Amino acid sequence: MTDDPKRPVYPAPGAQLPYGRQWIDDEDIAAVVSVLKGDFITQGPTVAAFENAFCAVTGARHAVAVSSGTAALHIAYLAAGLKPGDEIITAPITFAATANAARLCGAEVKFVDIDPRTLCIDAKAIARAVTPKTRIIAPVDFAGLPCATAEIMALAKTHNLTVVTDAAHSLGATDHGKPVGALAHMTCFSFHPVKSITTGEGGLVTTDDGTLAEKLRLLRSHGIKPGREGYTIAAAATDTETAAQPAESGDAAGWYMEMTTLGFNYRITDLQCALGLSQLKKLPMFVARRTAIAERYRAAFHNHPLLTLQDLPPGTTSGWHLFTIQLRLEEMKKTRRQVYDALKAAGLGVQIHYIPVHLHPYYRSRYGHKRGDFPLAEHYYDRCISLPIFPAMTEADAQKVVDTVLSVLN
Ligand SMILES: *Cc1c(COP(=O)(O)O)cnc(C)c1O
Repeated sequence: MTDDPKRPVYPAPGAQLPYGRQWIDDEDIAAVVSVLKGDFITQGPTVAAFENAFCAVTGARHAVAVSSGTAALHIAYLAAGLKPGDEIITAPITFAATANAARLCGAEVKFVDIDPRTLCIDAKAIARAVTPKTRIIAPVDFAGLPCATAEIMALAKTHNLTVVTDAAHSLGATDHGKPVGALAHMTCFSFHPVKSITTGEGGLVTTDDGTLAEKLRLLRSHGIKPGREGYTIAAAATDTETAAQPAESGDAAGWYMEMTTLGFNYRITDLQCALGLSQLKKLPMFVARRTAIAERYRAAFHNHPLLTLQDLPPGTTSGWHLFTIQLRLEEMKKTRRQVYDALKAAGLGVQIHYIPVHLHPYYRSRYGHKRGDFPLAEHYYDRCISLPIFPAMTEADAQKVVDTVLSVLN
């Protein structure tokens, strides 16, 4: 790992090293400014340009960019036909949005415990949770590691289910050479500042299915066709689907844009997509830097008697959104809280990812969940700590993390 001369310098010297942080450089700023000076600051050509670039990076046929990762999950679930009374299956170790988006559709959430080695959903346990009401399996590429997608896709085929992968952590990761984004029926990304690339807020759904892509585009913008990408209003007026049955005859000329389904304003702006395009060019460098930091950590910690690390199954590469360690509390005198506080006091902005979703008060009260329901997820949660990992970290920052962890554990 070498330190890039264009590396933005942060945090300020002496400040706490955060667990994650965006990389914004002069090229990113220039890209946003040039869109600001142009004709379209939203719904112009830059959204489509970003989507096309995303297809090129992931190998997916279609990309639909939206206002957040949560919006991406919400419309992906709706496009898959998720409705009140249906069920989705997901893992408890994720950000709450994976489950919340199903509740926003009126559907119920069934959790399946994690594989303690990969920290992703236990693919072997999913079949037992499938009921006649199940519509969607929503696995999470935890910390950036692709989940067992091939196995989950095979299971989905037998039960006629849709797989929507939450890939908020895993842009840039691969599974047997294939990039995340072209492995499931739909794949959802987030561009929050701590994620692989950022648009401020933003998200995106990839799919190879043209019918799903069409539904996603409608849901993104009020259920009205067209959006502006590739469409003119005149073209819309002659579009057979939108103009086939005008509500009032005579309305079809010029301005006619019919609403065909109930949708949202989940649009992303051209300003954000200008940043996204500029960031996407740096994705290989971002992933390489995250990987170099992760390799340094793995080399330092993999034999440590008090630590357990996430397994990387053969054939996979991680996007390294997070680097989580697990403390072997049974062998230690210190508690996780003591280790966490000591790392914070030594200047590391460590975090805990995540409170298992079934233990949030909302899910406890809705489903009566309690401690003990998903023991492997809880075992992980009780021992985990996320260490700082982001592309703008220097060699010295990464070494400071290693030294601090080793000294706190001693
Ligand atoms: C960040 C994240 C989301 C939500 O993305 P937003 O862009 O913040 O809405 C969903 N799932 C996971 C696993 C995430 O990490």
